[in-house]
Amino acid sequence: MNQLENQNSYDVIIVGGGMVGASLAHALSGHGLSIAVIESYSLNTTSQPSYDDRAIALSYGSKRILDALGLWSKLASSAEAIDKIHVSEQGQFGFARLDHHEEGVEALGYVVTARDLGSVLLPTLTEVDDVSLLCPATLEDFSLQDNKVTANVLIAGKPSTLQAKLLVAADGGQSSVREQLGIKVSESDYGQSAIVSNVSSQQPHNNIAYERFTTTGPVALLPMTENRSALVYTVKNEDQQAVMALSDDEFLQQLQHRFGYRLGKFTRMGKRFVYELKLKQVDEHIRHRVALIGNAAHTVHPVAGQGFNLGIRDVAALAEVIVEADQRQADIGQLSVLSEYENWRKKDHRNVMTATDSMVKLFEHPLAVVKMARNAGILAVDMLPGTRHLISRFAMGLTGKQPKLSRGITLD
Ligand SMILES: Cc1cc2nc3c(=O)[nH]c(=O)nc-3n(C[C@H](O)[C@H](O)[C@H](O)COP(=O)(O)OP(=O)(O)OC[C@H]3O[C@@H](n4cnc5c(N)ncnc54)[C@H](O)[C@@H]3O)c2cc1C
Repeated sequence: MNQLENQNSYDVIIVGGGMVGASLAHALSGHGLSIAVIESYSLNTTSQPSYDDRAIALSYGSKRILDALGLWSKLASSAEAIDKIHVSEQGQFGFARLDHHEEGVEALGYVVTARDLGSVLLPTLTEVDDVSLLCPATLEDFSLQDNKVTANVLIAGKPSTLQAKLLVAADGGQSSVREQLGIKVSESDYGQSAIVSNVSSQQPHNNIAYERFTTTGPVALLPMTENRSALVYTVKNEDQQAVMALSDDEFLQQLQHRFGYRLGKFTRMGKRFVYELKLKQVDEHIRHRVALIGNAAHTVHPVAGQGFNLGIRDVAALAEVIVEADQRQADIGQLSVLSEYENWRKKDHRNVMTATDSMVKLFEHPLAVVKMARNAGILAVDMLPGTRHLISRFAMGLTGKQPKLSRGITLD
């Protein structure tokens, strides 16, 4: 760990060393800035809840960002490609297919575990001189002055005061930075939980990601290494305990009923973990000397695997704004600089939140006429190449103004 010695002044303090905060530290490193990352958990990725066994579908755009940051080559061996996406609804005959060949890319995306990401993101930060990785360290509170932000931090239990030009909140869905600033969060509870696990099936996944809508919520199966599939199985909150109490065989039978036999019979499953699902959005992403990124700024339903993808696009945009402002000797914590980031990211946030939220609500609707309309919609997507192309670009994270890193260009 790069410990602070007498130094306590930085250009940027990043609160949170989860997937998004650690990615930002990588993006800012090497550009003449001094960076501190404050993370409550120690470096050991087995105890860090952000880096658990959940599978993360990385969009093609996120892979390009990780590649531009020099991280993809370290992650590639644990990643499984998504060549096709298959969308269907239980009890309906229509389905839609997206295919990487149609988009001229090597894959629509890749599946890794959060743990794999952690084992690439964190240790490499200890090897660079311009990042002080402070963990375990917890931000207690902070105050904003005209020319700096002052943060009170407990580093391994000892109080310390740090200063910076900019404080970035990458402290997740329960962001204490957001709370201290009194930034309003709109929250909507889906009344659903996601049960995640790995499953094995008789037939190979052939690098197809399946998204199946059912009356009790969506079921996703994502291709993983060793021919396993990562399962995201949504249930209503009131059913969660009963479903978790099922034996593996009973659970697999229920899954088989909801998913069908496209992968043959499900034969085995790993440990199950539960996450309650909420939509959270903020209407302010910045304040003087503060920027919010990742789950601190938005938490979305995992139905389309977009949360981290949205967060890493925040990283790419914010890093570009900061590095360019610093190069022209502007104050990187000034509102006029941070507004560039906010204006850039608002539309992408809104689009992803609207798309995922509408998808969940549309497929929950019990009315027969709505069912017919969505089946027709799914069929139309399958038949109309222009619509398929738009949806594929969205899934690949390639819509809207692309930051340099998303285009594979480094921030020199
Ligand atoms: C079931 C499920 C499946 C998902 N699947 C996908 C997917 O397929 N694709 C995708 O893109 N996304 C997916 N997501 C979303 C993705 O996991 C999140 O968007 C992502 O983890 C958010 O990362 P983050 O770094 O913003 O927040 P977090 O991971 O919550 O990290 C915040 C960090 O801040 C630290 N922290 C908090 N407060 C303090 C403090 N005061 N001081 C110091 N440190 C602090 C915490 O310890 C933590 O490490 C999924 C989510 C779920 C629940």
